[in-house]
Amino acid sequence: MAVINGVNGHAAKLDFTTFYNVINNELSTTARTRHSINPANRQPNPEVPVSTQEDLDKAVDCAREAFKKWSKTSVEERRAAITAFSRAVDDHKDDFAKLLTMEQGKPLAQSYHEIGMATEWLQKIPTMKIPEDILEDTEDRQIIQRYVPLGVACAIVPWNYPILLAVGKIAPAVYTGNAIIVKPSPYTPYCDLKLGELATRFFPPGVVQVLSGDHDLGPMMTSHPGIDKVSFTGSSETGKKVMASCAGTLKRVTLELGGNDPAIICDDVDIDAILPKVHAMCFYCSAQICMMIKRLYVHEKIYDQFREAFVKYTQNLKSGDGNQSDVFFGPVQNAEQFERVKNLFTTIPAEGLKPALGGKIEDSEGYFVTPTVIDNPPEKSRVVTEEPFGPIVPLLKWSDEDDVVARANDSKMGLGSSVWSKDIERANRIAKRLESGSVWVNSHFDVAPCVPFGGHKWSGMGMEWGVTGLKAYCNQQILWLKK
Ligand code: NAD
Repeated sequence: MAVINGVNGHAAKLDFTTFYNVINNELSTTARTRHSINPANRQPNPEVPVSTQEDLDKAVDCAREAFKKWSKTSVEERRAAITAFSRAVDDHKDDFAKLLTMEQGKPLAQSYHEIGMATEWLQKIPTMKIPEDILEDTEDRQIIQRYVPLGVACAIVPWNYPILLAVGKIAPAVYTGNAIIVKPSPYTPYCDLKLGELATRFFPPGVVQVLSGDHDLGPMMTSHPGIDKVSFTGSSETGKKVMASCAGTLKRVTLELGGNDPAIICDDVDIDAILPKVHAMCFYCSAQICMMIKRLYVHEKIYDQFREAFVKYTQNLKSGDGNQSDVFFGPVQNAEQFERVKNLFTTIPAEGLKPALGGKIEDSEGYFVTPTVIDNPPEKSRVVTEEPFGPIVPLLKWSDEDDVVARANDSKMGLGSSVWSKDIERANRIAKRLESGSVWVNSHFDVAPCVPFGGHKWSGMGMEWGVTGLKAYCNQQILWLKK
């Protein structure tokens, strides 16, 4: 491991062309390096470190040392550091946005949106109160339930929202007094490494560290005896491996996993009014979001009209390199994901499905997928039962309330779901029967830093954000005070 420089205290703009691990507030590289691919043109991105067990051991030692002092700092001190960090991220938003579009592929406007969310999360998470509950207070004694930091946390981040999902773990972890080591996805390491570099200016050595690596680094972290908690966001299949591996050292685990969100559109909606939001929630970020609408149940009375309007709306949106100003559909993020989506497209002829739009993936410079709408496929077709993570959405007909609720709930996933109707009572009634961690009426995928977020069933374990999310970075302690 070669140390490049110590950077604590710099006020200058960061350089966004070279990328290093951040261990104990020092930038370092590794003997072996690697790079990811720009998904819009398949050109190589810059080299990044491939961390070894030795790098991880060093980061864990530094985090354990840092924890001793950081956990004793005041909430005000920690809040001030996180708020200053937030301002610095905002000061660098133009560089972050360009870098995010280069590595992730999303259109520039969507990159700015993600960075805006990240700075909001950094600002608002430390405004919440870390709870201390008085369970009993009598002449004789007081019993207090308090929340104390866990130690060293590890953040394992996916490639779809690398900035927001890293920040959404860093802020609650360090605010509650923990140290954290962030592991970005090997497909999108760049913004997270720069976040770590920027963090050196606001946090003591060892409090926020970032390690880039290949597919071996995650398992090294989940089995490391010096890490106390893993907060993982990614697929359900990997989540199961993470949980199994964490069991060996009884780590605390939070799992934010995949989804197959249903949206139920009732027959009384104003189609033109809801279309922009419903459409965005199906296709934003080329549908590579855990909580996208992935099954669209439309009442049979308005089905044909809705399908036509939905297809027309989709046809008017442009695909291309995210740096072009008018693009809505960027590429999917990486070669493996592109292959997965291509494989799903083979089910269109194989299962005799009817595309209302698209249906074939044309050859292109990048990993571009033709936006596709499938017209009323069978409930058991793969496009309905699987999470595509690409711009292909099935429209399904319904007429009976009990039947559509049963179909919506007939999934191993339970992340989000929504009901769309002018009749709020009816929508509420349906919403309360849906099996998912978040349920929206006349919206989908609304999230906020002070509101917990997580999944039922195979979509996750525990919740992040909100006070619930702060508690997830703490051990509970019951203090019995005999007077
Ligand atoms: P993934 O599971 O392949 O990878 C996620 C992260 O885990 C990456 O950093 C990866 O390097 C790491 N990893 C891989 N194998 C590991 C192992 N054995 N042990 C430890 N870490 C390991 O997921 P992805 O393809 O990056 O992301 C897409 C998936 O993430 C989708 O299913 C999506 O729904 C889900 N997701 C969920 C949420 C949520 O909050 N619920 C948010 C975004 C994405």
